[in-house]
Amino acid sequence: MTRRVSVFGATGSIGANTLDLIRRAPDDYRVVALTGGRNIAALARDARELRAEVAVTAHEDCLPALREALAGSGVEAAAGEAAICEAAARPADWIMSAIVGAAGLPPGLKALEQGTTLALANKESLVTAGPLLLRTAARHGATILPVDSEHSAIFQALRGERPETVERIIITASGGAFRDWPIERLAEATPEQAATHPNWDMGQRITVDSASMFNKALEVIETKEFFGIDPDRIEVIVHPESLVHALVGHRDGALIAHVGPPDMRHAIGYALSFPDRAELPVERLNLAKIGSLTFRDPEEARYPALGLAREVMRIGGLAGAAFNASKEAALDAFLDERIRFTDMADVVSRVIEIMSAQGLDSAAVDLDTVREADKAARIRAEEAINALQS
Ligand code: NDP
Ligand code: MG
Repeated sequence: MTRRVSVFGATGSIGANTLDLIRRAPDDYRVVALTGGRNIAALARDARELRAEVAVTAHEDCLPALREALAGSGVEAAAGEAAICEAAARPADWIMSAIVGAAGLPPGLKALEQGTTLALANKESLVTAGPLLLRTAARHGATILPVDSEHSAIFQALRGERPETVERIIITASGGAFRDWPIERLAEATPEQAATHPNWDMGQRITVDSASMFNKALEVIETKEFFGIDPDRIEVIVHPESLVHALVGHRDGALIAHVGPPDMRHAIGYALSFPDRAELPVERLNLAKIGSLTFRDPEEARYPALGLAREVMRIGGLAGAAFNASKEAALDAFLDERIRFTDMADVVSRVIEIMSAQGLDSAAVDLDTVREADKAARIRAEEAINALQS
């Protein structure tokens, strides 16, 4: 049966991997909507080739270029956040949420409101508004399938198990670009150095977040929100080979590990064929050749983001929204070379400290309050960034 699919963030790293799998079985899918940002050439090319109903760019100023690139193709062109949300409301059986950042939340919610299956790569929406996302899915009979590799691994390891026997969840981290640098040198790290990942090929922002472990910090919160597990039972371990993605520990002492190549097409393909397992074009690991897998504890001084994630989970409420927004602002400032690599954690820490004194914990988590907290956190972050520069 042909399934109707939409891909949000189609021009990104996850989006391209998703389209790669769709292209391999063109008769199985009908593409409804593809969305992108500024990469109009890729968006128009994919929309034409896959005969999408509609292609949407996030930016109004890109609409003329998109219209021109799609002329005569029969694909509708649209632009702006509202158009992206409208595209998310178009009936589809499976929707990939792979926009980067907090901008992924509104279309994710719209998609869930139509009771679809949402493959969720956009971890920021779980971090900023986990309860809202899960509530919306439950209310509309929608399904959320995790796409982040660690969460897909946990999800797979949990299949057939009883939740009450789970004692702990361990997620692995490669350690990022600077795992072996002397800690004193981290302050000098450049955006270019931070954007090089030892194992995974990903978008620029998440790669820099891997070097700082802000990505792992988001993933710890994502684990708490999605699997409803107590934060004290979530552990992070550095595993430089990036072959074990997560482990689930049971009360009888068993650890069920998920092992696979560092290729996002595994997790995307798993979500695409769930509950079945399709044949996927990923490497088959030769364990004898790999020889050994190594693990070590993350150093707190190297990765202050992990401690901040604990603080955010302790506060709860809108702390996740403030955390993510201040992290996004700090990341922009680092990429623009306005602050140093090590300043990012200080900016986020300062924002959480100020905003938690103003009652982040007590507020209800809905789209309006999340948007307000996001906005306030970006303003606070900008103040902290300016203070560091002066
Ligand atoms: P990329 O930066 O490669 O792609 C991001 C996508 O979002 C692009 O299509 C981009 O458009 C679009 N976009 C950017 N800004 C906006 C906006 N304001 N509104 C709407 N669309 C926008 O990111 P990744 O593919 O690496 O990551 C996507 C998501 O998946 C993130 O949440 C990330 O954390 C998560 N993820 C990624 C993994 C990976 O391996 N890459 C692994 C696990 C999770 P354009 O490029 O055209 O401007
Ligand atoms: Mg991940």
